[in-house]
Formats: sequence, structure tokens, C-alpha cells
Amino acid sequence: MKQAWEVIKQAKKIALLTHLNPDADTLGSALGFWHYLKKDKKCDVFNLSQLPYNLDFLPGIKKVKCYEPKGYDLWISFDCGSFDRLGLSSKDALLINIDHHKSNTMYGDFNIIDPHAAATSQVAYNFLRSQGASIDNNTALCFYTALVDDTGFFKYDSVDAEVFAFAKELVEAGASPEYVANMLTMREPLAKLRLIPLVLNTLELVLNAQVAIIYLTQQMLAQTGATKEMADDALTMARSLATVEVAMLLREEEDGRIKVSLRSKNYVDVSLIAAAFGGGGHKRAAGFTSHLHEFDTVKAMLLEKIKGELLAKKE
Ligand code: 5GP
Ligand code: MN
Repeated sequence: MKQAWEVIKQAKKIALLTHLNPDADTLGSALGFWHYLKKDKKCDVFNLSQLPYNLDFLPGIKKVKCYEPKGYDLWISFDCGSFDRLGLSSKDALLINIDHHKSNTMYGDFNIIDPHAAATSQVAYNFLRSQGASIDNNTALCFYTALVDDTGFFKYDSVDAEVFAFAKELVEAGASPEYVANMLTMREPLAKLRLIPLVLNTLELVLNAQVAIIYLTQQMLAQTGATKEMADDALTMARSLATVEVAMLLREEEDGRIKVSLRSKNYVDVSLIAAAFGGGGHKRAAGFTSHLHEFDTVKAMLLEKIKGELLAKKE
């Protein structure tokens, strides 16, 4: 951390990088860090995909640049487990990698990784605190949004006393839990409520109803006017079924490839399953994008792998 701070101090122009299919943790961590850095550095936040509609309230999000960074002497990536997930063509600058994925491939010149952290914003905050830095209300709001989203509002097994201590400091620094909860959960577009029943209607239960599979097609998106991340709650619902241990969402991307999202409830480590297909993630939430275009092929390969994980537990 000390060496990384030296590099930050010497840098002239810093690019803060977020991963493809961005979530609140990657954007909240980068924007929170941006609010701190921009006080005395030239810096910008980058993302190469469409930004989720419900994060429009994050201060600074309208300034996020959606092209590749050029002419920056330092890059800092947030919440990104592997270099390819940044979607950049090549590494053009010194890179600090700040993350909490245990599967992180250590692609940075400096890697600040804490797999015990509940969100990357917690790692970023500890990094700032290691310099004795104090944060303003904008950073607090961004970091808090990242934290609640990555913990499912303090529900997951990553949540411990330290997480609440971190949340306390963010609230003291100006983050409003009610405001963030309202922004994230009380502004659903009608298109999303039209999409979710279509997705849930595809639900299949297999392997003794321990595995739930749901599908999202481009046609469903066209029919409802919804965007792809609007199906995420359907996956949470599929996992919530009493018998289900693993839920998976197979999503047809614009180019026909299939993006797989995996969730587990109690014991299956879905990051191992995703890693076997070139992706990654956490024990209870992981994913990958397959080069294959047929739902059935991807499903069969996944079930073969999941079967092994379910059996491994029983033994
Ligand atoms: P989601 O299924 O919501 O896209 O992602 C759940 C988690 O899985 C994310 O927090 C992320 O860590 C991980 N993840 C999703 N897709 C990929 C992927 O293509 N590659 C890697 N390495 N991780 C992914
Ligand atoms: Mn995260």
C-alpha cells in the first residue's frame, strides 16, 4: 500500500477503471476514490459498457467516460478479478489493482486484494485510511452504495462486525442508508416488472429441485423494453426457493454468446464452477461468458459440473 501511494503521488493523470457489466461495487468504489483524488489530481473514471439505470444517483456518474483511457500515466482498477474483464485492448500504464475477489489473477503492478472484504469499497477505504485520509460525503455515499449492494443489504456471509464498523464510519461521513435504499430499490421501471415474470416463467428445476435454471433472451428484452441487468432479481427469487441450493441465469447477449450468472445458498462454491469455464467471482455469486451460443449445450456442461459439487458435499 505504501509503494502504491508513492506511485499515486507521483502520477500526473490517473484513470480509474471499472469492469464490464458494471455493478454498484465497481462504480461506487471508483467514483468514491475519484471524489477523493480529484481534489489534487487530474483523474477520470472509465467504463466500457452501458451503465446500470439505478446507479444514476451516484455523484459523478455522468462524468464516467465510455472509451479506452489514453494518455494516463497511472491506472487503478476496482473490483475487477482479471484484466480481460476491464474490456481494454492492452495495458498501457502502470496499474494498481484494488479488489476483493479471491480469484483475482494479480494482473496489476501493485495488487491490493483483500478476499475477506465484503466489497471492494472496503478495500479502497482501508487503502485511503492507511494514508490517514478522511473522506467527504460523496465518497461516503459511493462507498456505502457499493457495500450494501455487494452484501445484499448486509445479508451475506461476508458480513461481520468489521463491515458494520465500516458502515458506521460511512454513515458518520454523510452516507444516508435510507436514501441509498430508496435509490436502489424504490425506483423500479415498469419494464423490469414486465420482464421478471417472463424470465421466471422459464424456470426449470433439476437434480432433485436443488438446481434452478432460468433464461433471458434478447426477444424478452425487446418485448418489454427492459435492460439485461433487470433480470437479476429473478435469479435471487429462483435461489430463494426452499429446495434450491444453486440458481443459474443463462442470458443471451447481443452477439449471441451466453452469459451465465450463478448463485448458491449454503454450501456450493459457485466461484469454482465459474472458474472452470474461464470466469470467476465469489462463493455465493459468480459468473462467466461462454463463447457458445446454444442454451442447451451450456446448460448440460454446467449441470455436469454442478452435479459434482452437489455430490462432493454429500460425501
Ligand atoms: P453477475 O452474475 O451478477 O454478473 O456476477 C456475480 C459475480 O460474479 C460478480 O461479482 C463477479 O465477481 C463475478 N463474475 C461475473 N461474471 C464474470 C466473468 O465473466 N469473469 C469473472 N472473472 N468474474 C465474473
Ligand atoms: Mn465486489
